[in-house]
Amino acid sequence: MQNLLHNLNPEQLAAVTLPAQSALILAGAGSGKTRVLTTRIAWLIQTGQVSPSGIMAVTFTNKAAKEMLTRLSAMLPVSTRGMWIGTFHGLCNRFLRTHYRDCALPQTFQILDSQDQLSMIKRLLKANNIDDEKYPPKNLMYFINNAKDQGLRANRVEAHDPIERKMVELYELYDNQCQREGVVDFAELLLRAYELLERNQPLREHYQARFKHILVDEFQDTNDLQYNLLKLLAGHGQQVAGALFAVGDDDQSIYAFRGANVGNMSAFEREFRVENLIKLEQNYRSHGHILDSANHLIANNSKRLGKNLRTDAGHGEPVRIYEASSDLEEAQWIIEEAKSLMAEGALRREIAILYRSNAQSRVIEHALFAAGLPYTVYGGQRYFQRAEVKHAIAYLQLMDNPHNDSAFLRVVNFPTRGIGMRSIEALQAAAEQYGISLYAAVPYVAGKSGSSLNSFVKLVEGARFETQQLALPETVRLVLEASGLLQHYQNEKEGADRIENLEQMVNAATQFVQEEGFGQGAPAYMGPKAQASAGELILDGDGTEIIDADIPLNTIMSPLSAFLSHASLEAGDAQAQAGQDALQLMTVHSAKGLEFDAVFITGLEEGLFPHESSSREMDGVDEERRLMYVAITRARKRLYMSFTQTRMLHGQTRYNMKSRFFDELPEDALKWISPRVQSHWFGNKKSAWDDAKFSSGGSDNKIAQQIAQKAASGGPGWRIGESVEHAKFGEGVIVNIEGGGSNARAQINFGKAGMKVLDLSVAKLERV
Ligand code: ATP
Ligand code: MG
Repeated sequence: MQNLLHNLNPEQLAAVTLPAQSALILAGAGSGKTRVLTTRIAWLIQTGQVSPSGIMAVTFTNKAAKEMLTRLSAMLPVSTRGMWIGTFHGLCNRFLRTHYRDCALPQTFQILDSQDQLSMIKRLLKANNIDDEKYPPKNLMYFINNAKDQGLRANRVEAHDPIERKMVELYELYDNQCQREGVVDFAELLLRAYELLERNQPLREHYQARFKHILVDEFQDTNDLQYNLLKLLAGHGQQVAGALFAVGDDDQSIYAFRGANVGNMSAFEREFRVENLIKLEQNYRSHGHILDSANHLIANNSKRLGKNLRTDAGHGEPVRIYEASSDLEEAQWIIEEAKSLMAEGALRREIAILYRSNAQSRVIEHALFAAGLPYTVYGGQRYFQRAEVKHAIAYLQLMDNPHNDSAFLRVVNFPTRGIGMRSIEALQAAAEQYGISLYAAVPYVAGKSGSSLNSFVKLVEGARFETQQLALPETVRLVLEASGLLQHYQNEKEGADRIENLEQMVNAATQFVQEEGFGQGAPAYMGPKAQASAGELILDGDGTEIIDADIPLNTIMSPLSAFLSHASLEAGDAQAQAGQDALQLMTVHSAKGLEFDAVFITGLEEGLFPHESSSREMDGVDEERRLMYVAITRARKRLYMSFTQTRMLHGQTRYNMKSRFFDELPEDALKWISPRVQSHWFGNKKSAWDDAKFSSGGSDNKIAQQIAQKAASGGPGWRIGESVEHAKFGEGVIVNIEGGGSNARAQINFGKAGMKVLDLSVAKLERV
């Protein structure tokens, strides 16, 4: 016990050992929130206040959940298997698998990732003859997810105009279609779980009694549905109420665009009558200059709950800031700096390169590749999202649940087996007519189409039959062969990589069964009987069956179902690169909660970071500033920031102004290291153009000339940074110029009238 607690400061100790009541730990980055949460779990168990099965802990990523489990296993002599530790999605998946009957799902229900969800919506629009220009599929997807995140089914969404009424109608059709196929999207996982708990009293009481302690990390980023789910589980306002222990930082709330509601923190404090509000103000992560920068920056936000951070660590190195002439040069600089860090002994995996948008990673990746430096990209093109892997997954999905239409359509004619568009249309018509899945509709299609479709069905059923007794890795191997995928790529010119990825799936399956505790040789399928007898059945007063969810995952899900859920849910986490020590590339969003010895924050330019979309939203820039705060506070010892004058993004060259965030950092914590451009560029409000003109010397001059030419082609000499007057919008400043000649457009900040993008050949602008 001594061991558990002796490394905590007094506030942390108080938080860890609070009595079993609801509590809110509100604290800045790196103050030990996650550490306190983990230690509290260990302390509760070690002091005998709760058994592992009485604990539920919610983390933000699967990776964080894994880390927490590893730490707990190291701290505790008991098995951690009975605990529920995971993301909201992971935990709800587990819950729905246990109670699939009660929530009217097939036992083998499958999870749609966002790509599949979008293609399902496109199909739905087509089947209903809806104009997808009037109802863009992405908008509909956003509409549906947004409603679900608020806990609203179609019948409860208020529609204000005919367009919205149609969207609501489509939402309903979409849900019906999902139900027919036995698939659920991400938001549905949560909503289903919530509805089941709300409706089924014995079940709800069972879980309320079970989870004596519910602990939530990153509470500031919960959305309304998640908060309500927690309220139900904690038995809010009831005798059985479990203790809800929430840790969070309002300054790190960065998911408003996905429905996160930072107001949940004060709602929690109020609704749960939280008496234990603890603030942690000692930062253990970052050196002084880094922390000063974070504190200074975030002080520019209003509406903060208010807290400070201090550190005992010395100032450390100043924050290095670099102005590059282009994104290519920025990448080069990062590589040089990373190399010198490594020469000083830094580990590759302790160096993170962060960016605001995924699109920025390409140039950096390219440069790293050319320099021969290994790297890992988080949340980029994920392994399970690659086309060939998705094809293989689709075959496995069909074997487990043949009614998954997305999976069916993906592989019915891949590799090609002569099933053309017309056959598919006939099949879709039959499925529509009888209200059944495509797979089930095959017997209704006559003629040659019917027989080729039928041979596809036979292929799937044959594979299922042959794999009946096989373990998961062998099942995967057999499917790769039987589907014809391996052979298909063998014949393809550049198929070697794809084959390697497919073969990698056998390893992934082997690793998965090991990690999840499925017996090595356990058959990939498991009959319902095996599942029921694996767990203890508790019968409640009404005779409702409640399988106690203490039963580990490996007995409620077959290895195949579990593997398929894993493939859909590991979203955003790093790709497995076993044993590889590599530089870490990721968006700032996915860096939340992590820490590294050295951090590069790249692309600090107006329009990119803060992102241009933020100017359209209320409090948008505040949210970007919080994102910047998250980025800065990931660093322990070294922090680097960079921006460039020009950048190619989405096929366009952009001429950038440095980010406003630079003006919000404490000058004495910074070291500007762009020798070529003198400090007047930072001091005065001069434009990149002006500086380019002023700078002298060989290569700079060339760049300057290029910029000058390009900027000049943007119209009658308009410059970034110039003040203009527009008849309707008033006075403004040009923030960015894109394109050239008659296609030139300028992004102009008109203050009160907001940010506008104007066509320079059309807009009537006056110089001020
Ligand atoms: P974030 O807001 O970024 O999620 P956090 O508040 O969760 O940060 P932790 O990740 O728990 O912070 O802790 C930050 C670092 O400080 C970790 O490396 C942790 O091990 C260390 N740390 C926390 N508390 C102490 C302590 N009392 N003594 C020494 N190190 C500590
Ligand atoms: Mg944390």
